[in-house]
Amino acid sequence: MIEWSEQHLMIRDAVRRFVEAEIVPNLEELEHGDMPPYDLLRKLFATFGMDEMARSRFEREIAREKAGEAKAPKTSSSEEEELVPRGRVGAKGDAAAMTMIPIIELCRYCPGMVTAMGVSMGLTGGAVMSKGTLAQKERWGLDLLTLDKIGAWAITEPGSGSDAFGGMKSSARRKEGGGYILNGNKTFITNGPHADTIIFICKLEEEGVPMRERKILNFVLDRGMKGLVQSKAMRKMGLHSSPTGELFLSDVEVETDRLLGESEEQPSRAGAKETFSTERSGVAAMALGIVERCLELSVKYAKERVQFERPIGEFQLVQLKLAKMEVARTNIQNLVFRHIELVDCGRRPTLAESSAMKLYSAQAAMEVALEAVQIYGGNGYMSEYQVEQLCRDAKVLQIYAGTDEIQVSSIARDLLAG
Ligand SMILES: Cc1cc2nc3c(=O)[nH]c(=O)nc-3n(C[C@H](O)[C@H](O)[C@H](O)COP(=O)(O)OP(=O)(O)OC[C@H]3O[C@@H](n4cnc5c(N)ncnc54)[C@H](O)[C@@H]3O)c2cc1C
Repeated sequence: MIEWSEQHLMIRDAVRRFVEAEIVPNLEELEHGDMPPYDLLRKLFATFGMDEMARSRFEREIAREKAGEAKAPKTSSSEEEELVPRGRVGAKGDAAAMTMIPIIELCRYCPGMVTAMGVSMGLTGGAVMSKGTLAQKERWGLDLLTLDKIGAWAITEPGSGSDAFGGMKSSARRKEGGGYILNGNKTFITNGPHADTIIFICKLEEEGVPMRERKILNFVLDRGMKGLVQSKAMRKMGLHSSPTGELFLSDVEVETDRLLGESEEQPSRAGAKETFSTERSGVAAMALGIVERCLELSVKYAKERVQFERPIGEFQLVQLKLAKMEVARTNIQNLVFRHIELVDCGRRPTLAESSAMKLYSAQAAMEVALEAVQIYGGNGYMSEYQVEQLCRDAKVLQIYAGTDEIQVSSIARDLLAG
């Protein structure tokens, strides 16, 4: 894949029109007011039939599972290549592209909305659908995938971020006669203040087992459960359209039907690593949206802004910034295209590949956004100009879904293990 197909571009333009008509007029309220992003996201879903597509995918999967069928076996990449004309992607690649395009388009204006949507549908809905029993999928899965309900995925704690599993203190104690009692505090949780459904990740209390080696369990909680408190939105540097909060659990009693998979033996750590991989690829699409928009705005400003009786775009130092932005845009776009191709071949990126993709894209988005502010001069520092918001928003890409430093460790570990 070397460029978007005509069909991709049609979808892109339609999403862009939606964003400009529905989201841009509300940006002030989303970023600086009290408007949560969920109704606008639901409108996006309804407009493009994304809710109906999620519903039919869900129904197909449930029907397959009820019929006792395993997922379709993976075809080898060589078999796929024979079916797909050169330079184009097949159905799986198209599906991946259709996921990436709204992310890119939303991030041109409002990266926070993608975070809110991705955590609800991708992380929370994805966890239920990949680890849940049939009954759990039917109980929570569909509402999360259609955004009818808002989800939160809670692993980070005040004392454990990068070392999410090792330092985790949240606990599940077995109750006599079945079920568990949950305790712990979670922080920086996207959608935390508004979530209807929460995946609470904690450690099983196991006497004699060192804390770092205890089993990791995932529970599904509903808003309003006794002993569960969801904080108000925390104040933060950027990404204001994505509410972030804390969760406090004090002796929350649950039955086993809320333990994802209804078994203590699920390979939770491996499952979480897969989640990290998906999250990291999504960040590259977010970075592409931010970089595209920053570049577009910078080129426009460089042509319009006159100093020393010349447009600033005539100064070589400004040209260098624009050229480096274009290099970053091309590189990130190529990474996104490669990801689409990988999906098309039925291959998942390795952890090292998705970490490398995330590390590069996040750093490039931050550099581009900072340079866009620089090109705008004093105006770039003012909230009236969009580059100021994009610059604050870009920073988070280097922190969540694993910091830059953690991506470096993942890549190096993989290389050294080979
Ligand atoms: C806006 C936002 C939304 C978020 N949403 C969610 C969410 O929905 N759910 C959730 O569970 N979490 C969420 N997080 C939390 C996020 O995943 C963590 O902030 C992130 O993993 C980093 O953890 P930390 O903040 O505790 O930093 P720390 O782990 O304390 O890191 C501090 C610094 O030390 C560095 N460091 C740590 N360990 C190493 C090491 N081994 N080698 C080198 N350097 C190291 C880090 O890279 C960083 O620079 C969110 C965070 C933000 C900012």
